[in-house]
Amino acid sequence: MSKNILVLPGDGIGPEIVTEAVKVMACLRDEFGLDIEMDEALVGGAAYDAAGHPLPEATLTLAREADAVLLGAVGGPKWEPLDISVRPEKGLLGLRSELGLFANLRPAILYPQLADASTLRAEVVSGLDIMIVRELTGGIYFGQPRGVRVLESGEKEGFNTLVYRESEVDRIVRVAMDIAMKRGKRLCSVDKANVLECTEMWRQVATRTAADYPEVELSHMYVDNAAMQLVRAPKQFDVMVTTNMFGDILSDCAAMLTGSIGMLPSASLDENGKGMYEPIHGSAPDIAGQGVANPLATILSVAMLLRYSLNEDALAARVEQAVEQVLDTGIRTADIYSPGTEKVSTEVMGDAVVNALRS
Ligand code: NAD
Repeated sequence: MSKNILVLPGDGIGPEIVTEAVKVMACLRDEFGLDIEMDEALVGGAAYDAAGHPLPEATLTLAREADAVLLGAVGGPKWEPLDISVRPEKGLLGLRSELGLFANLRPAILYPQLADASTLRAEVVSGLDIMIVRELTGGIYFGQPRGVRVLESGEKEGFNTLVYRESEVDRIVRVAMDIAMKRGKRLCSVDKANVLECTEMWRQVATRTAADYPEVELSHMYVDNAAMQLVRAPKQFDVMVTTNMFGDILSDCAAMLTGSIGMLPSASLDENGKGMYEPIHGSAPDIAGQGVANPLATILSVAMLLRYSLNEDALAARVEQAVEQVLDTGIRTADIYSPGTEKVSTEVMGDAVVNALRS
């Protein structure tokens, strides 16, 4: 039975980069026998303009019915004055919570061809390939009670609650273990077990769950050390798993090791492997409409979609290889351009990936 992919271009450069990713999916469908159907819907500011809400009911219904969602990006200065309840970002958060996307997968890959883009020395980062698995629907970002209260003294006190149930830790560790099994079979669980009881429990559950994966080598690391190790010797890591807040911070740090925000995809998965796939970058309003955005993060998000929601590992690898082949030819969008390479548009880059797929 064919799989249904919902495409949500969103705002800013979203439509430009998604157009190129759709070309790649259409090529896989027409020439490689990938059995998919694609639908398109509005989200974010574009949806607000057309339907008065960043996540219209019609979009949510299609997202629920789809096997996977591919999203460009949302947001932009045009919608910043809006009430927070209808800002474009609400569309994204609404999709994550409505679809129960609890596992956020953020690879940080540095292609050898782009080693100069990193602020770290090339030998420290060249060939870097880390997967950070971040818990996305629990922890301190959602824990109750939360708020700001006024004390008797008149001083304000802000408070949030870090809370995890054993089952929440178990399911995210299982996702990370399954990924480690497909990669280098090493998982580092990051916590602050020396200070926070909640993450002391996290460590115990991770150890217990790991017993079901004897082939994977589990290690534990305190988050402060993990931050340090990520910039000192990032290639020591294969897969990392951590809480919502630690993952938020560490995955951005890892992304910046690569120096090329336009190259990094992400996935957010539910319990059944259904997922939403998107580049890690935003809608880049500063370059929207100019045809210069890098579509590779979105195209690599298609590769993740193939691997994690459609179980098409071979096609996923083929897309990733096509991207590498294109980088080898020396063409670059402006964000990854360096002297000696050839600067090309969003469209030329997308076409080059499709041609490399065919070759
Ligand atoms: P951004 O990621 O959009 O842009 C940061 C910088 O990186 C800009 O200079 C931009 O031109 C560049 N850049 C980003 N993607 C690029 C690409 N594919 N090719 C070339 N250059 C690229 O972050 P920002 O400027 O902080 O945010 C802009 C808007 O995007 C805001 O409204 C923000 O809320 C939104 N945003 C959305 C998402 C999302 O949809 N997931 C994520 C982050 C930010």
